[in-house]
Amino acid sequence: MSGRLAVVGLGPGNERYVTPEAAAALSDAQAVYGYGPYLDRVPPRAGQSRHPSDNREEAARATDALHRAAQGANVAVVSGGDPGVFAMAAAICEQIATGPDTWRTLDVVFIPGITAMLAVAARIGAPLGHDFCALSLSDNLKPWPLIERRLDAAAQAGFAIALYNPISRARPWQFASALERLRRHLPPTTPVIFGRAVGRADEQVVVTALQTAANETADMATLVIVGTRETRVIERPGRSPLVYTPRGINRAVAEAIA
Ligand code: SAH
Repeated sequence: MSGRLAVVGLGPGNERYVTPEAAAALSDAQAVYGYGPYLDRVPPRAGQSRHPSDNREEAARATDALHRAAQGANVAVVSGGDPGVFAMAAAICEQIATGPDTWRTLDVVFIPGITAMLAVAARIGAPLGHDFCALSLSDNLKPWPLIERRLDAAAQAGFAIALYNPISRARPWQFASALERLRRHLPPTTPVIFGRAVGRADEQVVVTALQTAANETADMATLVIVGTRETRVIERPGRSPLVYTPRGINRAVAEAIA
């Protein structure tokens, strides 16, 4: 019997954001691997084994899942959001690249999910309506000076910026430092969106400006979107504001960047 490995995106937390393809892969799996809180989101199924692991054990989780699939099992590895965005899909590919030849002949599929930045953007309007980029602020896998260089480049080039992994207990100062960096390049009024636990019961979305954006507003479950010089806020009576980045760029802004 030949095994199969599905790398499955669960979306940001709301079960309505789990695609039918992801749900089918999860119900077919004999063994499911993932970070504990993500595994808790997978509906229980008789006969299916669960293999929770810590969120820093991605390489070991990937090799365990690959071994199990190579033995002939139908295996799913889950990620929150999309598995290709700062998550398990690359970890699986890294292990296939360096692992035994038999892993290259495995049936491996990647099942996309709604990534946090799209879920947050959809709550508030269209902050990613024009060119944007995504950056992880975690310096576990890359040096902090490189992150600063990328923040500079993104802000100078006029991208809206989605910041994943803004802060954690082990990384308490990086987010404040990133905001300071961005203030060098962007006007104080640049809209900043904090989307926390989007799609879950304790969801919170807050809009502020770069000058008032504060460290404390973010935690590990927060995705931050920093707008551009052209991102606008529409205040609405009796409703939450809309934030959008227009599709076309103002000529003077474009010339200033170029
Ligand atoms: N693969 C995931 C991202 C993993 S990195 C995805 O595609 O969304 C983990 C980071 O994602 C968190 O620190 C946070 O910045 C963001 N994130 C994940 N789920 C979120 C949610 N429901 N609401 C807001 N941000 C979230």
